[in-house]
Amino acid sequence: MSSARSVPPEATDALRAEVAGAVFVPADPGYNRARQAWTLTVDQRPAMVVEAASAADVAAAVRFARAQGLRIAPQGTGHGAAPLEPLDSALLLRTSRLRGVRIDPDTRTARADAGIVWQDVAVPASEHGLAALAGTAPNVGVTGYTLGGGLGWLARRYGLAANSVTAAEIVTPDGQLVRADPEHEPDLFWAVRGGGGSVGVVTALEMQLYPVPESYAGALFFPVQRAGEVLHSWREWTTSVPDEVTSIGRIVRIPPLPAVPAQLRGRAFAMVEAAYVGDERTGVDLVAPLRKLAPEMDTFATIPAPALSQLHMDPTEPVPAVGDGVLLTDFPAAAADALVGLAGADADTMLISIEVRHLDGALRRPKADGGALPSIDASYALYGTGVAATPEAVATVGGQAQALKDALTPWHASYSYYNTTDTPAPAQALLPPDSYQRLRQIKISRDADDAIISAHPV
Ligand SMILES: Cc1cc2nc3c(=O)[nH]c(=O)nc-3n(C[C@H](O)[C@H](O)[C@H](O)COP(=O)(O)OP(=O)(O)OC[C@H]3O[C@@H](n4cnc5c(N)ncnc54)[C@H](O)[C@@H]3O)c2cc1C
Repeated sequence: MSSARSVPPEATDALRAEVAGAVFVPADPGYNRARQAWTLTVDQRPAMVVEAASAADVAAAVRFARAQGLRIAPQGTGHGAAPLEPLDSALLLRTSRLRGVRIDPDTRTARADAGIVWQDVAVPASEHGLAALAGTAPNVGVTGYTLGGGLGWLARRYGLAANSVTAAEIVTPDGQLVRADPEHEPDLFWAVRGGGGSVGVVTALEMQLYPVPESYAGALFFPVQRAGEVLHSWREWTTSVPDEVTSIGRIVRIPPLPAVPAQLRGRAFAMVEAAYVGDERTGVDLVAPLRKLAPEMDTFATIPAPALSQLHMDPTEPVPAVGDGVLLTDFPAAAADALVGLAGADADTMLISIEVRHLDGALRRPKADGGALPSIDASYALYGTGVAATPEAVATVGGQAQALKDALTPWHASYSYYNTTDTPAPAQALLPPDSYQRLRQIKISRDADDAIISAHPV
């Protein structure tokens, strides 16, 4: 464990006087709370934490950090904190107090301050029959998720969340608040749409919304002993469904926690989760081939768009999780067999969830002027995760997530997915080569001193 660099007390006092938010150094009682990421296995110990209460606070904190020779690590929820480099010479700039959201039903757009989580957009948007390209969890941050791409339940129909951003407000590394859109700061506007947050601190995003008031969606649960049969059927099914269907094939081991419904508690399942953007009758027909497998439980129903955030059963409270993922060019029978070998009924594993997301559809078609990640050149996304409450467990679960990736090496795509790469990796490994080269040029021209720390360095 490294210790945080100290900042002169008089400088800290001056910053406290300047900002409306809160400032913490390691000696302060609130420091441990303020530095805590959502992912509890992450032990980040920055030189200072600033909880910004406004965009002006963000700008003041950035100018302060530069004057003190500190680097700057922007963070909302800390869902994506695992791959970050050590922060002991950094100011952790938390945006979680920036919680304004505005829905404009006429232009079908939303403006979300940087600390907003997806449910804060999904619920008010749904009052107008609209949906945002939210992730599968309700409380993942809009900003980190969107800067890294953003794969949710509407992804095969409407693409990555990053490609639906219409403007970003950004504090540049020299402390200026600017608006980036197609007409202003086009290089910054390009970089934040899928290139991560390395070129400045985003204070707000504007994004397009879509007319999706409800969706035919749900999950089919099968005993884990049927994992091979279920995953084979699912992967064949994915080759037949229209872009309106986004789905996940999955093996889960549900912890024996009192909060979990009795029929799921402590059990392992093979699952198919899916959401269809369209009418129920067509949805029933689309799901029929999987229903023929006679699942033990079937939760498919027509649900309002915000309820999609419950489908994947992601934890809403912070957890000590370890995980990792990779993009796959294909998920043929041999890949499904390899996965079942590592996670099926007979496997000795601490991974509580192994999922394969079906991509393609709109995700595969490059969006014109879509930014740093205009499409995903892969057909599936693999992710494995487990709970790890001790350092030994962290090592074991991390090793098992790595083994899972290794087992599917023949199908690895040429780059991985920014948001689910939870181990340290350069941005170069997570973007198409042309995109990375352009992002690198923008980084050099905007942040030559590498003042901004991002989840994956450029
Ligand atoms: C339970 C769970 C479910 C998930 N589900 C999905 C999913 O369905 N689809 C998907 O694509 N991903 C998913 N993810 C991954 C998630 O998108 C990433 O972890 C993402 O980074 C989270 O964004 P955040 O803002 O919540 O996290 P943070 O840890 O706060 O931010 C992550 C990174 O984003 C950058 N960043 C954040 N805020 C700013 C800012 N204001 N300015 C500049 N840079 C900033 C920084 O580099 C930061 O390190 C999930 C993760 C978890 C833990």
